[in-house]
Amino acid sequence: AQVTRIAPSPTGFIHLGNLYSAVADERIAHLSDGVFYLRIEDTDLKRKVDGAVDIIINVMKYFGIEFDEGAGQEDKGNNNYGPYYQRQRVEYYHVFAKELIKKGLAYPCFCTEEDNAQLREAQQAENATPGYYGKWAKCRSLTLEEIEENLKAGKPWVLRLKSPGSEDKEITIEDKIMGKISFPENTHDIVILKSDGVPTYHFAHVVDDTLMGTTLVIRGNEWLSSVPTHFQLNQVLGFRQFKYAHTAHLMKIDEETGKKRKLSKRKDPELSLDFYRQDGYHPYTVKIYLLTLLNSNFEEWHDKNPDKDINEFPFSVKKMSQSGALFDLQKFHDICKKEFAKMSLEEVYSFLEQWTKEYDAENYDMYFGDKEYMEKVLTLCMGLNQKRRRKDFAYAKQIMESLSYFFKDKFVPNNDYDFDNETVKAILAKYLESYDENDDNSTWFNKVKTLSEELGFTTDMKAYKKSPESFKGNVAQVSEAIRVAITGQRNTPDLCTICQIIGKDNVKERIENTIN
Ligand code: GLU
Repeated sequence: AQVTRIAPSPTGFIHLGNLYSAVADERIAHLSDGVFYLRIEDTDLKRKVDGAVDIIINVMKYFGIEFDEGAGQEDKGNNNYGPYYQRQRVEYYHVFAKELIKKGLAYPCFCTEEDNAQLREAQQAENATPGYYGKWAKCRSLTLEEIEENLKAGKPWVLRLKSPGSEDKEITIEDKIMGKISFPENTHDIVILKSDGVPTYHFAHVVDDTLMGTTLVIRGNEWLSSVPTHFQLNQVLGFRQFKYAHTAHLMKIDEETGKKRKLSKRKDPELSLDFYRQDGYHPYTVKIYLLTLLNSNFEEWHDKNPDKDINEFPFSVKKMSQSGALFDLQKFHDICKKEFAKMSLEEVYSFLEQWTKEYDAENYDMYFGDKEYMEKVLTLCMGLNQKRRRKDFAYAKQIMESLSYFFKDKFVPNNDYDFDNETVKAILAKYLESYDENDDNSTWFNKVKTLSEELGFTTDMKAYKKSPESFKGNVAQVSEAIRVAITGQRNTPDLCTICQIIGKDNVKERIENTIN
């Protein structure tokens, strides 16, 4: 059984990349009957936002990711490895920090900002690697008396690791995604406790993931270069080494340069999870897409096993991209359309209803006040009663906009006709004369044919195609005109059924408004 976790900072912002790795964590844990938990890295109070933990939990839940234990999961009763907020674990870090001090492997450093600036300058002048190490590590050699003096003088200090590493030696890890990697040993005296006694990420990571029993650390590959530090911390603390999977950043093709680049918070709204909620992407389709990005063989599996629960997919961390999966909105839309086309009327209905309640509340009653009516509209527009379902819709906002003409208050007349006004009026008047709401499809179309012929339009499409200039127009253009008058749109499902759904009075009213 694998124990995995996510360890976000409570900044109030969680993005697609967080969800992407959370899906991997969750799958790895649950496929092995393991545990997936949430730890909150709240050591940096400046970045902390109230309510951020609830945001993390709720957003994850919305997208179908639930934790077995951790922050906010107290009611689940599995709190053996907590507390799950780093702020509440300060004593734990201190125990291990003291251990290191006792062994002579950690020391207080009193260097000020100014000292550090000077260090940088001196290192620059000598072309030395920047950092606190070796001969540059000034406070390494403080005597006990000097330390005592500084403490008495009330000088602020941080606790540094006294790195026993040597640059000539190597460590090697077997990363689950990146494979075998070797690094020179860490030689830097990194800070392990900050001046307020709170640990740095490095120190908290090794202490927490050890005490909390994480069996696989899945995290962004921006941490890859810190592996030697973490390896060394484990060594000096006598801990076991972790298994790692370093995930590459989500990428996209930049619209301007055509080159692959990281998804960016500033440039790409798709990185924000609000984007998916606001426009009404079904959370299930988001998960499907993330699985597609995470494991390249998922899509084929899902196509071959349309009825299987996606949780049965044999997810593998080894199949994750080393260079960064490519996010492609078009591809995502195709997946959304495919998934919508598999959903039942009840599923589609309840999803749209929820979304409208949340994001278009003022129109909620109009759309969902009459359930039977809305069901008819959806059935027609999404082809729910057809063998081959329409794959036109990717997200709620798009669906709701496309069916707005079924609702009186949302109908927008459109004067985009192929014919002049007089011709349009003549067509519409004749249509109204013969219109009977009980007509079935073929009767309805025969009437349109008849009125076309009566008005001098051809019903012989072949002949029309050969020499369009010898005709006033054709029957398709005539029904197009009727369609535009009744729906305000050129592209709609079957017009006869639309007329039946919106009802005779509405049909009449819309046509009369166009004629007059
Ligand atoms: N708070 C860290 C981050 O968000 C966690 C990294 C980790 O998973 O260890 O980058």
